[in-house]
Amino acid sequence: MENFYQDVLKRIERASKVLNLPEQIKNVILNPQRIVQLSLVLKRDNGDLEVFQAYRVQHNDAYGPFKGGIRFHVNTDLNEVKALAILMTLKNSVVNLPYGGAKGGISVDPRSLSEAELERLSRAYVNGIYSIIGSKKDIPAPDVNTNSQVMAWMADQYSLLSNNYVPESFTGKPTNFGGSFGRDIATSFGGIVVLEEFLKTVDNFGKTQSELKVAIQGVGNAGSNAARILAKKGYRVVAISDSRGGIYNANGLKIKSILNEYEEKKSRDKSITIMDTKFECEKITNQQLLELDVEVLIPAALENQISQKNASEIKAMVILELANGPVTFDAEEKLLAKNITLLPGILVNAGGVVGSYFEWVQNNSGDKWSKAEVLEKIEDRMKESFADLYQVKNKLNTDYHTAAFVSSINKVKEIMSLRGRI
Ligand code: GLU
Repeated sequence: MENFYQDVLKRIERASKVLNLPEQIKNVILNPQRIVQLSLVLKRDNGDLEVFQAYRVQHNDAYGPFKGGIRFHVNTDLNEVKALAILMTLKNSVVNLPYGGAKGGISVDPRSLSEAELERLSRAYVNGIYSIIGSKKDIPAPDVNTNSQVMAWMADQYSLLSNNYVPESFTGKPTNFGGSFGRDIATSFGGIVVLEEFLKTVDNFGKTQSELKVAIQGVGNAGSNAARILAKKGYRVVAISDSRGGIYNANGLKIKSILNEYEEKKSRDKSITIMDTKFECEKITNQQLLELDVEVLIPAALENQISQKNASEIKAMVILELANGPVTFDAEEKLLAKNITLLPGILVNAGGVVGSYFEWVQNNSGDKWSKAEVLEKIEDRMKESFADLYQVKNKLNTDYHTAAFVSSINKVKEIMSLRGRI
């Protein structure tokens, strides 16, 4: 993922120019404070031994403990995790959380492991990073292909190793093991708040909700919940996909029934795809989905999905980055030239970590809030953050992406300076 990492650096470079940031300070901000790489040995159920590469990159903790998810993906490598760790630092400062940024990952295809193997690998990962994580040091959370069950194993392993009940060492846990109500839908819920603030204050393209066509790439936690929320609110979700392909219906998909069927089948057979649904729709590729004639496009899967190769084919008016880094730097310039609005992931998908923050606050206070309370708090935080970003964008007369990088880098610089680190 060399290019993804380079793209993050280019975006920092662009923002640094706006800020007139001295080279030395930029260098300090660019470099992660700590990088841990592990070779995790997994004994497979049949007795075979397999080694997996794993990482935890702690980018910057000037604002507070490091914070960021852990992903399980075959293509995960050090550059990807470094890029994502930097984005976490910036994301946390965009939504004013008292956290720094980190990211972790294991280079593995979790679909190739049994449940028991997945648990052993998750626990092995915690054994490897035990000494550098903790509620006041670094608080991991779910990311691509990890969920509340994985967090439960990890938080349990951490508690066993420390001989202490410390659910606050991880967020995104099950609700009966210190998890917060609403955390499961927090990423998509927060993203939809941002979309609606944009539609309300900037441009709704002269359309009502049912006329606004939405295409969603990804049917993981972020994509599926975004589809559900949008469909419930009356938007016309015309397409959704998983890693192998998608489904399309110009009149709008029956999201609730489709996802219920898909998730029910998937719980029994991991090889099921969204294209196996029995509802009336056309099968499309992921490329076709991205190029659909819609008002709103939501990339909610992986990075680098919209690149030089397909940027000129994009027809959406607004792209809501629910994934981390789905649009490459070069593509971004092309989209801006076509007047397509790109709402940046470091704001759009921050609802997840905002939800994590409220989980951590509840764990630390021993309190338990209702789902409605949590969602209201996330909504307020996302609205405030959008308003702040909109103001910076207008003041600097620039695009949302540049504005988000400029203001977050500036905040990190200020706290680093206040603490005497630069
Ligand atoms: N993995 C999510 C992200 O990329 C959530 C991180 C967290 O909750 O710490 O923002």
